[in-house]
Amino acid sequence: NPNSDYRILTLADLPAYLAGLPDIAAMLGGGTADWRCEDVADGNLNSVFLVDGPAGGLCVKQALPYVRVAGESWPMDVRRAFFEVSYARRMAPFVGSLAPAIHHFDAAQFIIVMEKLAPHIILRSALIAGAHHPRVPVDVADYIAAASFHTSDLAAPFETKAADQALFAGNIGLQRISVDLVFTDPYVIHERNRVTVPLAGWAAAFRADIDLKEAVTRARLAYLTHAQSLLHGDLHSGSIMVTATETRVIDGEFALIGPSGFDIGNFIAHYVMAWFAKPFHGSGPAETARFRDLLAADILVFWQRFEAQFLAHWRGFAGAADGLPASHFADPVAAARAETMRRSYVADLFRDAVMFMACKIIRRVLGFAQIADFLVIPDEVVRAQAQAAALAFARSVLLHPARYGDIAAVVAAMPRFE
Ligand code: ADP
Ligand code: MG
Ligand code: MG
Ligand code: MG
Repeated sequence: NPNSDYRILTLADLPAYLAGLPDIAAMLGGGTADWRCEDVADGNLNSVFLVDGPAGGLCVKQALPYVRVAGESWPMDVRRAFFEVSYARRMAPFVGSLAPAIHHFDAAQFIIVMEKLAPHIILRSALIAGAHHPRVPVDVADYIAAASFHTSDLAAPFETKAADQALFAGNIGLQRISVDLVFTDPYVIHERNRVTVPLAGWAAAFRADIDLKEAVTRARLAYLTHAQSLLHGDLHSGSIMVTATETRVIDGEFALIGPSGFDIGNFIAHYVMAWFAKPFHGSGPAETARFRDLLAADILVFWQRFEAQFLAHWRGFAGAADGLPASHFADPVAAARAETMRRSYVADLFRDAVMFMACKIIRRVLGFAQIADFLVIPDEVVRAQAQAAALAFARSVLLHPARYGDIAAVVAAMPRFE
């Protein structure tokens, strides 16, 4: 129970609520009778409404005191809305229009009023439909590169970083979800897991695989201890909205200070899962081959763009980062050493990203939060073919990281046919 004033906002209450916010009401134009309201919640956690008025549209998101898809039996701290809005405000100077504008935060009702994205659709739906959006890997690479450079000790004064750490350390409700759902549940018997009958053998094998559990434990420790930069924390294909020309990152409620590779790996994981699901979406071998070529190219472009942008931020950085004073590397020999150090930092990010990518794939198949890419395959036996191939790939990545030393090796290991 968050506070005595908190009330769950219903679709029926929404116009009166918005009418009580004069600046927001003015953005919609007209009056309550002119506003069309719609419930569009399709995520796992929160209420989301879209409102259209004569002057414009808005998106209204409220944190519920429980997990929306699970109900009241799974309580969840409503302060996640505060962390989502804090994250969005912290990112805004670095990512600009790659995220929706935040118009209002109600700290008593845990409601965020933000720019309504239209006609944007969720990236996951586009991937399932086989609709290619070539801007997305470039834009998301730019987003993560800016975020992971500017909030790290490479750019932020350590006092700023400490303030971020102190603030987002409070977001433990959602960090608990990641620790449990990503790094723990898929490797134990847990009532939350949604393992289908055809995958029961895979789940049992993963629970018994000590090498795999050791690798996942390392990933879990990296998530918890590697305080590298401010992360989105849930950057999957359901947290990205797209048009042919625009990309927007939404839903930063899982924000935390953690390893930069976590967001990178999560994004790649969902392209990889789209790849594994594609042959089972019924569109035929030619369409599968066409779309898979595009997905493979997107993964390559994404990483190459990230690497180039991250290095460019660093090389061009004129601020007074404590960790890398420019005066240490002024002469040409030292400058070469600085470049070596930069490349080594990015190589570490890549290793982390590949590790987290694999963890994210496994949790989407053996854990609680399943994804539509697989769920749209109606027959569980057929679906399990796609999922098992993804599991095998993820397991190989975790057990043999040396085989996946660059992005080309990762893409080359994705099977070309089913
Ligand atoms: P959750 O935290 O519950 O996952 P999301 O922030 O992901 O909630 O939003 C759920 C859905 O609401 C999205 O999948 C999208 O369809 C819609 N949505 C969210 N934000 C916006 C927005 N700014 N404009 C338009 N639609 C949005
Ligand atoms: Mg979401
Ligand atoms: Mg969600
Ligand atoms: Mg969310």
